[in-house]
Amino acid sequence: MHSLVLLAAVSAAFGVPLDEPKKFTDYRLISAEAITAECFRAAEELEGRGIVDLWSHGAPEKGTILFSVAPENYDEVKSTFARFGTKLNILERDLQKLIEKDQIGSTYSAYASDRPFSFNQFETYEQIVASLNYYNKSNLLPVINVFSIGQTVEKREIYGVRISNSTANKSVIFIECGIHAREWASTSTCLFIIDRLIRFPKVHKALLDKYEFHIVPSSNPDGYVYTHTSNRLWRKNRSRQARGCFGVDLNRNFRAGPHCGVGTSQDSCSDIFCGTAPFSEPETAALERYISKLHSRIDYYVSLHSFGLMWMFPYSHTHDKCPDHADLLRRAKIGVDHIANNFGSKYVYGPIATTIYDVTGSSIDWAYMTQNITKSFVLELQPGLDFQWGGRGFLLDKSRIIPTGLETLGGLKAMWLS
Ligand SMILES: [Zn+2]
Repeated sequence: MHSLVLLAAVSAAFGVPLDEPKKFTDYRLISAEAITAECFRAAEELEGRGIVDLWSHGAPEKGTILFSVAPENYDEVKSTFARFGTKLNILERDLQKLIEKDQIGSTYSAYASDRPFSFNQFETYEQIVASLNYYNKSNLLPVINVFSIGQTVEKREIYGVRISNSTANKSVIFIECGIHAREWASTSTCLFIIDRLIRFPKVHKALLDKYEFHIVPSSNPDGYVYTHTSNRLWRKNRSRQARGCFGVDLNRNFRAGPHCGVGTSQDSCSDIFCGTAPFSEPETAALERYISKLHSRIDYYVSLHSFGLMWMFPYSHTHDKCPDHADLLRRAKIGVDHIANNFGSKYVYGPIATTIYDVTGSSIDWAYMTQNITKSFVLELQPGLDFQWGGRGFLLDKSRIIPTGLETLGGLKAMWLS
């Protein structure tokens, strides 16, 4: 049976109404290179009218942007970019085919099973929960505690797992994944890190001797479930908002910089809608509560996103350098160099605002500015922008789940142990 049909049947059985899954048949995925600031503003205007879906928000001068467009809107997009003399490269002609490629060979069963995570497919939320219970019961390490930091809008638990090789009081590394629902490579990498630490403690002994891990692999479960059942390219959570629209961009909803400042939108239908107030969403409020209690023990706060190969640190809301700029730059370079030397992938690194884009309300600025967690990092994982590695943008090829996990854990570990 088709996996989506099966999931729909399961959800229906639990009385959850589901939208008809959105199809992306004949949607094109397009890159525009060396665009000017003016051209980028025109692209943002197209997004504001729902003509394109920008896969990269914000673009440095002469940068590359990636966006998808429905077949009926292609002519308008083409003529808009032509006005700026920008050439469009069509990377994919049918996004639906690319989305379905992920599902071939994936075994999404109606009932999640008692097993470790699989890295041959992107796991569903239900399977993540079942597998966390499997590790919880496994006795593979002295401390494997699964906990919930709170509930989502749709009353799903937001689970985390605490991992340590002893009950000694150690500094904490906190990792948050999947805050943007469609960035499946983020969630799969958190699952990979959890699995490696638990099942290969000897390999990671130096790390586990030094640190206790608290990992939240799916920080936006409602959004993540929605990407499996209804719209693979959904980004926000699923709270009901004005004008019949849904969702807040959770990584614009922390208290960091002016609320709804640069790099956000106050339009409830926008993909980067900041919400009505800081921590208006139960998902960000849950993270806030959890970190506020733990913050004095946290040495590193890490937020994983995809895509684009960037290793970044505060600030995101201003171009000013943060007080720890030199130290954070040095640490980022350790991770980036390790990956380049051992895996060949070329990350860029630096402050968020000047490396990717300005944005207020990000979790990393909040952790750094209000929780005194100096070593706060956000990574944009695979795939890169050269489009050669496997997968496109949010649609990492599932054969690349393990390579992505390996290089990310390798780079982070080099930094953590430095
Ligand atoms: Zn993201």
